[in-house]
Amino acid sequence: MDKQKVRLLFSKQLVDKPIISSLVRECDVTFNIFKAYVTSQEGGVLLMELGGEEAKLGNAIAFLRGAGVEVQLLNEAISIVQDNCTHCGACTGQCPTDALTFGADFKLAFAPDKCIACELCVPACPYQAISPAGQVTG
Ligand code: SF4
Ligand code: SF4
Repeated sequence: MDKQKVRLLFSKQLVDKPIISSLVRECDVTFNIFKAYVTSQEGGVLLMELGGEEAKLGNAIAFLRGAGVEVQLLNEAISIVQDNCTHCGACTGQCPTDALTFGADFKLAFAPDKCIACELCVPACPYQAISPAGQVTG
């Protein structure tokens, strides 16, 4: 099964529509919501991971865009600027899923497949080495 992390932006007019349930019913994909919140503009934001066959994921993204949802495809949920990292470990203590750990070499290691895009590590870094979700085109 393929997976794709996405950030979905819902306008105020869309937040009460059953778009996700329609997505699952019509596109035969699974989903795992990492984060959901309402923005200051009163729109909604969902950070989630879609799962399914590659073609079905493509259909799902097309379905969402057709419904008026802005879809941002995410590669890795965070970016780490290696030059700024001192391997101090402050971020690993905040990560709830062990996506950030120390390897045997006592250097920071990042496992993107474990990351749930919670962004708790971003403010934890005293050197601003971690940035939120890296968006890819598509
Ligand atoms: S975003 Fe959350 S899950 Fe991902 S590495 Fe940072 S703390 Fe861990
Ligand atoms: S908190 Fe920042 S400097 Fe420390 S290990 Fe994590 S990314 Fe590196």
